[in-house]
Amino acid sequence: MSEYKAPLRDMHFVLQELAGLAEVAKLPGLEEINAELVDQILEESAKFASGVLSPLNKPADKEGSKWDKGRVTTPKGFKEAYRQFVEAGWNALQAPAEHGGQGLPKIVSTPVVEMWKSANLSFSLVTMLTAGAVEALILRGTEEQKKQYLPKMIEGGWTGTMNLTEPQAGSDLALVRTKAVREGDHYRVSGQKIFITYGEHDLAENIVHLVLGRVEGAPEGVRGISLFLVPKFLVSADGSLGQRNEVQCASIEHKLGIHASPTAVLVYENAVGYLVGEENHGLEYMFIMMNLARFAVGMEGLAISERAYQQALAYAKERVQSRDVAGGGKAVTIIHHPDVRRMLMSMKSQTEAMRALGYVVAAAVDKSLRHPDKEERARNQAFVDLMIPIVKGWFTETGIDVASTGIQVHGGMGFIEETGAAQHLRDARITTIYEGTTGIQANDLIGRKVAREGGATAKGVIAVMRAVEAELGKAAGEDMAATREAFSAALTAADGARRSRRAPAALRGKGRQVLLRGENQDRAVLRRSRPDAGAGLEERDRPRRGGRDGSGGGSVLSAGRACAPGRIGLL
Ligand SMILES: Cc1cc2nc3c(=O)[nH]c(=O)nc-3n(C[C@H](O)[C@H](O)[C@H](O)COP(=O)(O)OP(=O)(O)OC[C@H]3O[C@@H](n4cnc5c(N)ncnc54)[C@H](O)[C@@H]3O)c2cc1C
Repeated sequence: MSEYKAPLRDMHFVLQELAGLAEVAKLPGLEEINAELVDQILEESAKFASGVLSPLNKPADKEGSKWDKGRVTTPKGFKEAYRQFVEAGWNALQAPAEHGGQGLPKIVSTPVVEMWKSANLSFSLVTMLTAGAVEALILRGTEEQKKQYLPKMIEGGWTGTMNLTEPQAGSDLALVRTKAVREGDHYRVSGQKIFITYGEHDLAENIVHLVLGRVEGAPEGVRGISLFLVPKFLVSADGSLGQRNEVQCASIEHKLGIHASPTAVLVYENAVGYLVGEENHGLEYMFIMMNLARFAVGMEGLAISERAYQQALAYAKERVQSRDVAGGGKAVTIIHHPDVRRMLMSMKSQTEAMRALGYVVAAAVDKSLRHPDKEERARNQAFVDLMIPIVKGWFTETGIDVASTGIQVHGGMGFIEETGAAQHLRDARITTIYEGTTGIQANDLIGRKVAREGGATAKGVIAVMRAVEAELGKAAGEDMAATREAFSAALTAADGARRSRRAPAALRGKGRQVLLRGENQDRAVLRRSRPDAGAGLEERDRPRRGGRDGSGGGSVLSAGRACAPGRIGLL
């Protein structure tokens, strides 16, 4: 199996030419960022990814994480790799400088994180979950919580988890049942969480669980959910570790892929927990973080595609089979065959397209946070909001397609585990499921992001694409003409859906909307719910944000059942 090599040239191109690194570097607070510094960071990260993380990817997949009487052991080499990762300061890369992090902008941390994900997806997950928990505490933790937990979590001595899912509460988080009872300055948390990534492991001395639960007596549904911090070991005021908290790892899952990443069932029995933010606002806080978590999972689709492409390319250059269609009668390496080249080019172009969009969105995240002009901040935020379900949904679905094509390039050997191509497909398969399934991303895109502003940001994006279309029209050459033709067709379809006479009305809709994906993945059937769906509820009483699509969870499904068919539009 070929080792991962960071595509530094492609990364530089996208950063400089498409995402506007130079422009981002002019934003307030980023004065120290320049092309030279970014090059150095990317080169160092590339060395770590290729030299330390990538060689562990295959053996760790084979060995997997192991559970024994509540303790979890990660595969051989993970502990040492994590130690080196923390020592080199990589864990602090994304956190703000005021909390001890390196405060790098998103446009720089994004390619770095892409490398870790490509090199070893299972390993990268522990850092992703910790970064999410750090963000939650920065946004909503008390000053004391920040002081007590953030330094260790940012440095990497402690890791973080996100505990949302329960057996009966997956996409629909309104059904969360974990219970919290007030006891002085803390709560006692009881319940069962499933599928918790790195919920238990041996890489760090403490694990900080962020847990969704319900305070005793809280309202049913989404308005009664709170967020709690539950450490594996209690932390004393001076920051030292105290006794073990009442949270146990009952088992870890046997999975299709990401074998090295432990996916834990956690049982809380009167565990000491601390409220994050205010009671009954837990889901709201989760949604603040979800954008970036979804962006991170979307990048997994890109990262796996890159890895699968590199592996397929290496194989295609080595494998000799069949004669050259160009003549000569000699057997040639399979990269000479037009169909193999087609597959490789398709893998490469889809990977590059994802990287281009991913880095452009990362730059917009930086502008949304740092641009001196308020309107520019808002404009960039609206663009990020619109793009997140696309990054999550499209990148991860494409990642699976690309990994599958990678197997095809290998022929029979692709189906054999020894080659390593199959691992990429197995690892990619989860990405369309966790952090909100693709169906949930579709609901989020249409039901929330487009509907809430009558499609205004989408219209702006289409206008920019029209300008690109005009530029393509001026470019010479057959290739550009063919590109323009395909681009124009897609654009016309997107614009047609936006302009559709009934669709915008539905999008502004007073009732609920639901987007269903038909057999043809390109067709989206937009239905408007019956005016009486949810009748009797005041707008403020309607369940909101229960589902991971922020749409009210199960109520979307019930509205879906009540729908009258509307117009079919192409998206
Ligand atoms: C390996 C792994 C790691 C995970 N890590 C974590 C973690 O760290 N923390 C955590 O809290 N959770 C984690 N999860 C849980 C994950 O987020 C959920 O599995 C996911 O949100 C889907 O929920 P579900 O499995 O209950 O599926 P369901 O919600 O039962 O969905 C089943 C199907 O119904 C569809 N569906 C459901 N509702 C709707 C709707 N409103 N509209 C359209 N379609 C819908 C879904 O798209 C899906 O196709 C992990 C899961 C796995 C497998």
